[in-house]
Amino acid sequence: MTMSEWLAIGIALPVGLWALVVGQRVWGALLTLGLLLVAWGLTLAPWVWAVLAGVTLLLLAAEKLPNLSVRFPVLARLMPPDHKQRHWNRWRTATQWLLVAAMAIAALQYAVYMWQLGDGVPDVARPNIVDAFLPVAAAIQLKALFSYGLWDSAHPAGLMMLLVALLLSVVVKRGFCGWACPIGWLGEQLYQLRRRVLPVNAIERLQLSDRRWSKAVLWLTTAVDWLLRAVKYALLAAMINLVFLGMPGMMVMRYLNGAYHQAADMKMWVMFSSPSAPTLVGIVSIVALAAVRRNGFCRYLCPYGALMAIVGAFSPLKIRRDTDRCLRNTKGMDCDKCQRACPSRINVHLVNTVHSDECNSCQRCVSACPSRGALASALPMNRIKLTPLAMVVIIVVTLFVIPLMGAGLGLWNSDVTDQIRVMLWQNIDKLPMF
Ligand code: SF4
Ligand code: SF4
Repeated sequence: MTMSEWLAIGIALPVGLWALVVGQRVWGALLTLGLLLVAWGLTLAPWVWAVLAGVTLLLLAAEKLPNLSVRFPVLARLMPPDHKQRHWNRWRTATQWLLVAAMAIAALQYAVYMWQLGDGVPDVARPNIVDAFLPVAAAIQLKALFSYGLWDSAHPAGLMMLLVALLLSVVVKRGFCGWACPIGWLGEQLYQLRRRVLPVNAIERLQLSDRRWSKAVLWLTTAVDWLLRAVKYALLAAMINLVFLGMPGMMVMRYLNGAYHQAADMKMWVMFSSPSAPTLVGIVSIVALAAVRRNGFCRYLCPYGALMAIVGAFSPLKIRRDTDRCLRNTKGMDCDKCQRACPSRINVHLVNTVHSDECNSCQRCVSACPSRGALASALPMNRIKLTPLAMVVIIVVTLFVIPLMGAGLGLWNSDVTDQIRVMLWQNIDKLPMF
């Protein structure tokens, strides 16, 4: 692992452990500590793990010794006694910033690496996490894994991140989209910026309007929305058709052993650093879509989002409304705060369980609900409700600890040496795909 990857994990793990401790999940903290010790045994940097284990023990001690909180008031402030609903937004924002910062550091390091590659072997290491941005390569790697039990060694981090994202979807639906995806985060920032500069919301105005034709226009926009939502599934189907049905086993092996695959990340770099006219049009369109429509890219175009929506349908943790506590049922109020807070415009107030494929587990609806316990991400029958800290821990453990263990087992680092990369870079325009 490179310095930026260590740094990202070094920040994320204490955050996760702290979340466990302040959430009074002592068994969870101990389990995570156990995982850390395993990771310690698997990696070559024991001092990192010694520091993390020390921080964990300190946090556990602080939790168990209330006197410390009295003597050091800052500790008391760090450890709220209860999970308040508003904590959701705070934790989601913190998690997103953490992951975006980690990605930004890795992107910067990769840019320096590529810049130096033109002059020979770079001084900085290549962050393997960039492989996570090679979706087609990851799909081919997945086929090789299922068909031949082969773990690709050129871009293994890409396959690892695809698998952990799928695992996360099984647990918390599209939680990856709502909590971890840097592209989703960027889209949200663009949308908020556009709203501040140009606060136009034609759909809301239409809903409030009592003109006769407003209902027809609303119906039309809903139909168009449904059609556009299908586009991401069509893109996913095209990718599955291309890789899983249209690519024979021999071709998969030739591709994975070829120079084109070894240089896949560099091809991506060329595409974004020297974009062609169609690429520029694509980027501008995606930016415009994100600014105009909230979650526009995730909702209409992202095939990864489509895949996670399908896998997430099997997740037992769904947003559930407790009719014994919801103000609509208990007091007959016309409350729809959960629906209005939902970025995907899901009618949360009208259903008992949210099954929508557009639910990204952002928990904004839970945060907005005025009746404590009426809404939660929970198992069937409203058993075991997810808390903000548990969500953070699930994300951190899935996205950081598992890849870390993979790194210890040799399933993370690329075996393409810098010397080979220099040669590939010099011939980047001439590499045959097969
Ligand atoms: S239903 Fe709730 S958790 Fe799902 S997208 Fe809407 S606000 Fe977020
Ligand atoms: S915000 Fe809470 S109380 Fe209001 S409708 Fe939704 S679940 Fe019921």
